[in-house]
Amino acid sequence: MNEFQLIARYFEWPAPNAELGVGDDAALVSVASGKQLVVSADMLVEGRHFFKDVDPDRLGRKALAVNLSDMAAMGAIPRWFTLALALPQVDTHWIEAFSRGLRAMAEEHGVTLIGGDTTCGPLTISIQIMGEIDAGAALLRSGGKPGDDLWVSGPLGGAAAAVMHRQGRAVLSDSVLAQCELQLDLPVPRVALGQCLCGVASAALDISDGLLGDVAHLCERSGCGAEIELAWVPYPDAINELSTDLLQEAILAGGDDYELCFSVPAQQRETMQELKSSIGLPLMRVGRLVAGEGVRVVDLNGQVRTLSHAGFDHFA
Ligand code: ADP
Ligand code: MG
Repeated sequence: MNEFQLIARYFEWPAPNAELGVGDDAALVSVASGKQLVVSADMLVEGRHFFKDVDPDRLGRKALAVNLSDMAAMGAIPRWFTLALALPQVDTHWIEAFSRGLRAMAEEHGVTLIGGDTTCGPLTISIQIMGEIDAGAALLRSGGKPGDDLWVSGPLGGAAAAVMHRQGRAVLSDSVLAQCELQLDLPVPRVALGQCLCGVASAALDISDGLLGDVAHLCERSGCGAEIELAWVPYPDAINELSTDLLQEAILAGGDDYELCFSVPAQQRETMQELKSSIGLPLMRVGRLVAGEGVRVVDLNGQVRTLSHAGFDHFA
């Protein structure tokens, strides 16, 4: 099978929301008037972002999910994406499963594959995603104000626990491992939540590098600091199997869960309660933005600790 047959067979899908999809030198799409185009790219490299033996169907889903998560973090409606793929060889079983998973995730979110590039090389999946949003409505990292509550969209640390197990740093029981691997391999992008947060949240991002590191990014952009109450940060019960140190590292510095973290003015707590029940996600308040800079963690003993680096290991 040559490159063109491979593209036609696995990556040429119906493109109902594009004027021109796969097959020409470029695609054509239209953005409705009054909307802004929201653009982001995320790359997955074998050995760095995923393990060599990962199920290709899951990998296809995840490659798009991490991009959808960036749309969620902006509050955007995801619409189109391109796929740049480097493959070490043409393994049709692998490509078939990868394209099936990718397509399932795309259909679930109504996003259309409109083009890409395919080449031979070390396995790399690079997706650029495009979405739409009402002009001026996007959720930025920069809008947070001291006094705002800090929220997360769900339990953290499950994916990191799976990585710890795979790296031999922790030993999880089979059932806990299966649950954590699901979290690692099949993150659920919080797309609907992101859209609901427009006009409610003052700032938002998705947690891809760990809660502490990502809150630090939000703080830098917003020109403020943050305090996180460790006791309030939700995590899956199952990871209580980890030692205390690894548990804290997983929930504070693990990133692959792809939950959203966002700041909301404290006057909006009632709105947040309503949103929490209508959207059916375990949204949790985990702290607050404060004047100054840096991220502090109030630990389980009520001691305030200051973060000097992105990881929990580096507390001063
Ligand atoms: P060009 O020669 O202009 O670089 P290609 O031969 O790379 O074009 O691609 C032919 C068509 O197939 C283009 O429309 C391109 O967007 C699309 N395409 C290539 N690779 C992929 C892919 N992995 N997924 C989706 N579309 C692809
Ligand atoms: Mg090309």
